[in-house]
Amino acid sequence: MIDPEIYPGFSGPGSLSNELLFRGAKGNPDRDNLSIEKDESEKEQQKGLLCRVCQLLITTSRERIEKDGKHLHTFFNPAGIVYEIGCFRRAPGCLEFGSPSSEFAWFGGYSWQVVYCLSCQQHLGWKFSGEDRFFGLVVNKLSEG
Ligand SMILES: [Zn+2]
Repeated sequence: MIDPEIYPGFSGPGSLSNELLFRGAKGNPDRDNLSIEKDESEKEQQKGLLCRVCQLLITTSRERIEKDGKHLHTFFNPAGIVYEIGCFRRAPGCLEFGSPSSEFAWFGGYSWQVVYCLSCQQHLGWKFSGEDRFFGLVVNKLSEG
């Protein structure tokens, strides 16, 4: 039996902000904070993405990848909570926890593990393992440094 706390999207009560719901409803991911540095992108591809709570460097903009044709994905967990996540090749600031599970997987063929901030232990997203490995990080838990 799996602990419901570690289903994709479960990070405990009250973890979803209205701001995220509102952004998701607008349906325009290009306007969110993962892609604001358009004018800087030519000269500097790499930008740090920090834990919003403790400012630890989690990953960088250079690690962004696309899965199923897009970087940003919006998912519902079994409790109906919506999460907007970005896909990253690596996230050195994350610590994965628990054994991989394929139950209620968001990406077909991938199992997942919950990942936490190495420093403050807040839940940041999931690590997905299948034909390759990548991280799905909740975008409103990161800030650009
Ligand atoms: Zn942190």
